[in-house]
Amino acid sequence: MGHNIMRIVNQLVVMGILSNLIIGCAKPITVSPTPTIDVIQTISTDLNSQLECGGRLPNSKCHTVVEDYIVSILNQNHWQVEKQSFIRNGHKGFNIIGRYGIGDQPIIIGAHYDTRLTADQDPIPDKRMQAMPGANDGASGVAVLLYLARAIPIHFNENHAAIWLVFFDLEDDGDYEGWDWILGSTEFVNQMTVQPKAAVVVDMVGDKDLTLYYDGNSDPTIRKSIWDVAGRLGYDKIFIPQIKYYMIDDHTPFLQKGIPAVDIIDFDYPYWHTTNDTIDKISPQNIQIVSQTLLEWLKEP
Ligand SMILES: [Zn+2]
Repeated sequence: MGHNIMRIVNQLVVMGILSNLIIGCAKPITVSPTPTIDVIQTISTDLNSQLECGGRLPNSKCHTVVEDYIVSILNQNHWQVEKQSFIRNGHKGFNIIGRYGIGDQPIIIGAHYDTRLTADQDPIPDKRMQAMPGANDGASGVAVLLYLARAIPIHFNENHAAIWLVFFDLEDDGDYEGWDWILGSTEFVNQMTVQPKAAVVVDMVGDKDLTLYYDGNSDPTIRKSIWDVAGRLGYDKIFIPQIKYYMIDDHTPFLQKGIPAVDIIDFDYPYWHTTNDTIDKISPQNIQIVSQTLLEWLKEP
């Protein structure tokens, strides 16, 4: 389960170099060697970088800190970055879009990076007006996208069909006066001028006790293809191919536009929208499993 894809890539690259030497072939190596990184350590850093400031409430200082962090990781890993600012329902937000590859039929992988205004599901009434840390609800999905931000340029060359990573803002403020859910992704889809092949959203994918059931609203074909990949990788205890919930999430605006979209979410999370949604509930290994599944799925024809 602690399988280190980056190390294996490194090994393959090293082996490629060695075999080239042995056969005396001058063919250039298309995959450049990457520095060995400890994947689990990197995921933990990505989580902590989001959490150490506090809740990423819309228009807050911590929100800006995380925006800058996401943009810096994308820039370091050869993504073309756009910060899409918008106002929706009177609220200012920023979606962050990372583009890689070519063509106007991207596969979109998305996650929301904002956190909810208050921990209104907290078991302790006095805490319900506090901000929530959003370790799972926010940071875990972003951690998957940041993993992919590093891995995709290693596994796919620049002429690959487009893959976009979209970090949605203003997902999580439904049920407040003057707000709604999924404002950022709705705005993204409204402004979209391309025809995505598919959109896959990850949300709350870091629980130590992770179980990912089918979302009943998701596109059945793509949903099955992702869960099949997970099964082949041996993750069938986590990815369970049975419908459990029918979610409204950042995949919904895509579905409403006729774009096949899937939500990967563990909605059986007892700390949802509470002050207890903290880093100690999170398994970086499970975040790696979800990330690796998506990476392998992206390689499918
Ligand atoms: Zn939420």
